[in-house]
Amino acid sequence: MARKRLGVMGGTFDPIHHGHLVTAEEALWQFELDEVVFVPTGRPWMKGDRDVSDAEDRYLMVVVATSSNPRFFVSRLEIEREGPTYTVDTLRDLQRQHGEDVDLYFITGADAMLEIFHWKDQEEVLSLAHFIAATRPGYDLALFERGAPTEHPNVELMDVPALAISSTDIRARVGDGRPIRYLVPEGVQTYIEKAGLYR
Ligand code: ATP
Ligand code: MG
Repeated sequence: MARKRLGVMGGTFDPIHHGHLVTAEEALWQFELDEVVFVPTGRPWMKGDRDVSDAEDRYLMVVVATSSNPRFFVSRLEIEREGPTYTVDTLRDLQRQHGEDVDLYFITGADAMLEIFHWKDQEEVLSLAHFIAATRPGYDLALFERGAPTEHPNVELMDVPALAISSTDIRARVGDGRPIRYLVPEGVQTYIEKAGLYR
């Protein structure tokens, strides 16, 4: 039996937007993945300077955004974990959950990927999964190439159709009353309005 190829898309998803979805779909295609599981963070430890929305709201928005794609799934792994979340723990847990016949492909934007490679247990992280670093508008790839172990066989760059969308910009838009239609899935926009997020 062929090994299962599982994409893992971590993020704060505050809120999830089309940049995330296009990146996941492109990874699915380019790396012939069977599925992509989105893993919203619990209490993010690298976003100390601002209040992150409630984990349940972020989780539900990811569920709403991914429900129409039969190959997209959402995990509560990090939300349910006590204390700060580390990608290493998540990869270990996913490997345990899915058993030996699964290969993990961790998908991030090149900006976020650098945070991972600043961690002390780099070698161990790299042994747990393949890493797919997606291009992201406004982010200089040369920076990535200097900071990440791009020579490592488990690290690959991926070109995605450029979408200059960020959750930061979406939150600011909602705050200012500017439109977010077409930047996020319709259901996510409705959720933001109903829950009164980012006002
Ligand atoms: P924030 O502005 O709050 O940091 P964000 O838009 O960067 O939000 P995150 O939840 O931080 O979203 O990102 C989750 C993952 O998705 C990260 O790996 C990030 O690099 C990637 N990502 C986010 N937006 C894009 C995009 N437009 N194109 C490619 N990758 C993206
Ligand atoms: Mg970000």
